[in-house]
Amino acid sequence: MNTNYYIGIDLGGSHAAIGLVDDSGNIIAESTLKTQEYKEAADFVEATANAIETLLLSNNIGKNLKGIGIGAPNGNFFNGSIENAPNLPWKGFVPLADMLEKRLNLCPVKLTNDANAAAIGELKFGIAKTEGIRDFIMITLGTGLGSGVVVDGKLVYGHDGFAGELGHSLVSMNGGRLCKCGRQGCLERYASATGLAISAEEALEKSENSMLLAKKGNLSAFDVAEAALAGDKLALKVFDDTAKVLAFVLANATTVTSPAAFIFFGGLANAGELLLSPLRSYFDQYISTVYSGKVRMILSSIPKNHAAVLGAAALVIEH
Ligand SMILES: [Zn+2]
Repeated sequence: MNTNYYIGIDLGGSHAAIGLVDDSGNIIAESTLKTQEYKEAADFVEATANAIETLLLSNNIGKNLKGIGIGAPNGNFFNGSIENAPNLPWKGFVPLADMLEKRLNLCPVKLTNDANAAAIGELKFGIAKTEGIRDFIMITLGTGLGSGVVVDGKLVYGHDGFAGELGHSLVSMNGGRLCKCGRQGCLERYASATGLAISAEEALEKSENSMLLAKKGNLSAFDVAEAALAGDKLALKVFDDTAKVLAFVLANATTVTSPAAFIFFGGLANAGELLLSPLRSYFDQYISTVYSGKVRMILSSIPKNHAAVLGAAALVIEH
């Protein structure tokens, strides 16, 4: 029996990972592009098509490529387009799936939001599959905060394709940090690698006693995690505050879909218990008793960036 092959693309603000995937979710080969090098979407499509053709040739895939899936920021599954993505070089409305499909003329191309792709990756190949979790919310903690909502084994898209944007839940009724979406007080400006670093900088303004003072003005989330692991009180407090605001939104989200788990993935999720431990504790405080003890906070079981690559591929494996 012939194995079918698929391409999964995780398109991010800095890199695009292109994976050649088989039916069982094994990544056979990979290639990476630097997104910011392509000032026009058409140039990116050309480079991606070339990378895919090279992957197919060097792995002898021939006619067995059955589909291409893309996970992209502000990606809309319904029309295969990226709509006003603040972290990408191409502004406005970009019909990326159509452009790539026409250029390659090999197979169907589908596109969805990057966090949705990660959720589908967990559902088909990750911890949600191995543990039989059919109701969960995927939270990707990177530069921003993405989320994908799965109900009864299906991703929720909403009427326009933009369901599950917890990163743009408001956490303040009175302003707050300015978000790239144009509003103030969105969750992702607090609970993300970027938000954590901003919180640490703000805390340093009022402190004279932290090992982070040496890096003041130039802090990364990684620096804050390192200091917290070394017992730095300010860094620990920043993690605690971040967990608190995130727990607040997750407790509210729980009342909408009653998930069995929140699954975390992305750079800041690598902080693991540093974030999850205070998160569970605040979540228990905020949650209504009907949900008590029923919602797990767990990490993705798919290594590195592969949840989104596999999820993007699963878009076309499914169809
Ligand atoms: Zn926002």
